[in-house]
Amino acid sequence: MKIACIGAGPAGLYFSILMKLRDPGTEITIFERNPAGVTHGWGVVFWDDLVADLRANDPVSANTILDASFCWIDQVVEVKGGSPARGGGTGYGIGRQTLLDILRRRATDLGVAIRYEHEITGPSQVPDADVVVAADGVGSHLRRLHEDTFEPHIEPGRNKYVWLGTSRVFEAFTFGLVPTEAGWIWFHAYGYSPTMSTFIVECSPQTWQGLGFDRMPGDESLRALEHLFADYLGGHRLLSQSGTEEPLPWLNFRNLTNRKWHAGNVVLLGDAAHTAHFSIGSGTRLAMQDAIALADSLHRTKSIPAALAAYESERQFAMLRPQREARLSAAWFENIARYATLDGPQLFALLLDRRSRLIPHVPPRLYYALHRAKRIPLVRMLYRWAAMGVEQVSGLPRRLLHS
Ligand SMILES: Cc1cc2nc3c(=O)[nH]c(=O)nc-3n(C[C@H](O)[C@H](O)[C@H](O)COP(=O)(O)OP(=O)(O)OC[C@H]3O[C@@H](n4cnc5c(N)ncnc54)[C@H](O)[C@@H]3O)c2cc1C
Repeated sequence: MKIACIGAGPAGLYFSILMKLRDPGTEITIFERNPAGVTHGWGVVFWDDLVADLRANDPVSANTILDASFCWIDQVVEVKGGSPARGGGTGYGIGRQTLLDILRRRATDLGVAIRYEHEITGPSQVPDADVVVAADGVGSHLRRLHEDTFEPHIEPGRNKYVWLGTSRVFEAFTFGLVPTEAGWIWFHAYGYSPTMSTFIVECSPQTWQGLGFDRMPGDESLRALEHLFADYLGGHRLLSQSGTEEPLPWLNFRNLTNRKWHAGNVVLLGDAAHTAHFSIGSGTRLAMQDAIALADSLHRTKSIPAALAAYESERQFAMLRPQREARLSAAWFENIARYATLDGPQLFALLLDRRSRLIPHVPPRLYYALHRAKRIPLVRMLYRWAAMGVEQVSGLPRRLLHS
């Protein structure tokens, strides 16, 4: 089989590795627009569920990824001026570039050809292959070429965010909230190496404009953010991948779904197929799980159309819950003013439960009282219901759920 894969992100690289492991005779070429060693973003988090999947599918890259990961311990939320509330838990962080370097080396060792600085945008550039994998991210050109079949739906999130790095190493997953005269601004931070952390800043569009970030040069914005978050940074700088003269890359998160995931021999993978808000830290895991499912399906099913249809059905179903949770989590942060004045333990409990369907509809202090009363069976049942998705409640067959 001959496969062309567009995009050397986690999805495209991991899929190519797994295809080569399952069927070494497969001819795979990846086309990536960036030079090798260039990517966007800083570190990403993951948990033991992804580690189990990686170990089961390719122990060689799994071990290298784990060796290069940073283990963060505990979760902390702190409102400026208050004492921090702690909630336990552990997870991993890894630099995006480190992860990609590991996957690139493994893919190349297995015989995958990677053509860097090779952008595919128009129909005439799409390589001739039995299967063309669109792993070209949320802005996928390939998806746009078959928009009539895929029927993508993109909904921009309301808040502004910017993905920064810092040399302050956050040992715990930390949320810090700061009140300003223009509204709340906050960060999500975690270590991803012994020397670096991810530092994502988020706020409402009104706060963003009110603080002047819509018109400030990049360097000035970084200094303003360092000043706002000085209590948490301990004198460390904030870093952006954009040049000092350019504005900071503030964005609105793009929530993406597609009605279909394959059109002829073109199939969507990872962020090209779906996104899940960064506040649940799952996009890379979901992209790599897509890769596992697609490689399995192509290996198991002899007919390519049947393999692509089976992959689409399996992964669309698997995405229902994370995408619902991601929407609820994003909405929690969009309504943060509702929660930010709770005391530490209350705020922490609601932050951890932000994927609940109940939270938006119940006054926050009443929700906290319910949370504390979880030992009572009726309250526990309500909780379980709030945590379940329509896919679990209805028991409907998969096809009906996304028809
Ligand atoms: C702020 C933020 C924080 C995040 N934090 C986490 C986290 O903690 N944990 C987590 O699991 N996920 C996280 N994510 C999500 C994660 O980054 C993505 O879900 C993941 O990168 C998806 O992988 P992918 O391979 O599908 O796409 P991408 O990583 O976007 O890779 C796509 C590749 O395709 C290339 N490409 C694009 N167009 C073309 C073209 N026309 N021709 C050739 N090449 C092309 C791009 O250069 C890129 O290399 C976060 C996302 C954001 C925005």
